[in-house]
Amino acid sequence: MATLTRVKVLNPAQPNKSTAIFGGEASGILNWNDLAHPHFYTLRQKIRSLFWTANEVDMTQDVKQFADLSKAEQEAFLKIIGLLATLDGPQTVVAMKIADFATDPSVKSIMATIADQESEHNHSYAYVLSSVTTLDKQMASFEMGRTDEVLMKRNARIVDIYNEFAEKPTIETVLKAMVYTTLLEGLFFYSGFAFFYNLARHQKMVGTSTMISYINRDELQHGKAISDIFRAALAENPEYNTEAFTEWIYDQFRHSVEQEIIWSRYVLGEIEGIDLDEMAGYVKYRANKMLRMLGLSEIYPEFAENPMKWIRAYVDNFDDTKTDFFEQTSRQYVKTSDLNGFDDL
Ligand code: ZN
Ligand code: ZN
Repeated sequence: MATLTRVKVLNPAQPNKSTAIFGGEASGILNWNDLAHPHFYTLRQKIRSLFWTANEVDMTQDVKQFADLSKAEQEAFLKIIGLLATLDGPQTVVAMKIADFATDPSVKSIMATIADQESEHNHSYAYVLSSVTTLDKQMASFEMGRTDEVLMKRNARIVDIYNEFAEKPTIETVLKAMVYTTLLEGLFFYSGFAFFYNLARHQKMVGTSTMISYINRDELQHGKAISDIFRAALAENPEYNTEAFTEWIYDQFRHSVEQEIIWSRYVLGEIEGIDLDEMAGYVKYRANKMLRMLGLSEIYPEFAENPMKWIRAYVDNFDDTKTDFFEQTSRQYVKTSDLNGFDDL
């Protein structure tokens, strides 16, 4: 199987318009008005329009409220932040690696933008934890990804697929890594997100949930961008578009749904306000959505609709026409950052 080589920075002998997303020829000069896949321009614009930074979110209320959460809520809070950090840190790296091996400069640019946002997501978890808890507990939360058995089992296939791509970059391994990227962006975070939205609907930890809603919005755009790039790359490499590969994808989705449900029962079992069966249905609904984005069929036809009714106000409104829940309630956060003081630079 052909190994993908890292692309040169500039290669003036080759054309500006890339001949393929991976393994093609391109000069390295990026002209957004002369793309092999013109719709990639919009993908980047949509991601760029979502700029935010963690320090803008006021955590004052959350700092006071964290101590009043039940013990179960506090524990789940720290575990879920631990999970999210385990996924978002490596996601920065995977986006950069995909960029490294892509020939098409527009894909490199989109991946650079995604990598930047993932890096801010990861930063936001440290920002939240340092606001609400002691250094010991912050450290323990970040250790979870390499110590908690349930979490490690849940992440085992992601680790394998991402590392396989890192060690052996080929068309096949990059396609598989992109399937897992869409799973991360579109499914693995969502029981965690639900936990924070459930707190917010009980007027708890609204600062944290506001931040989570920004991350959620980013992930949805990333999932869309990466599934579009995946489909274009597969169309350019039809020899990989086989029944066996399609079956592999369905199998990963089934497995991921199982793991996400096990995880949600483990981490949300004691949480008031979350119905675990509804949660499982919500995970299946997310899987259907991501499969459709990849150009495949739904595997849970009974979950064509989101069964977790209350969460719709928080997550189903992230599109161009409606404002999201937190924005609607007239910005519950104020910008505390004084980073606009350019005079100090
Ligand atoms: Zn992220
Ligand atoms: Zn993302």
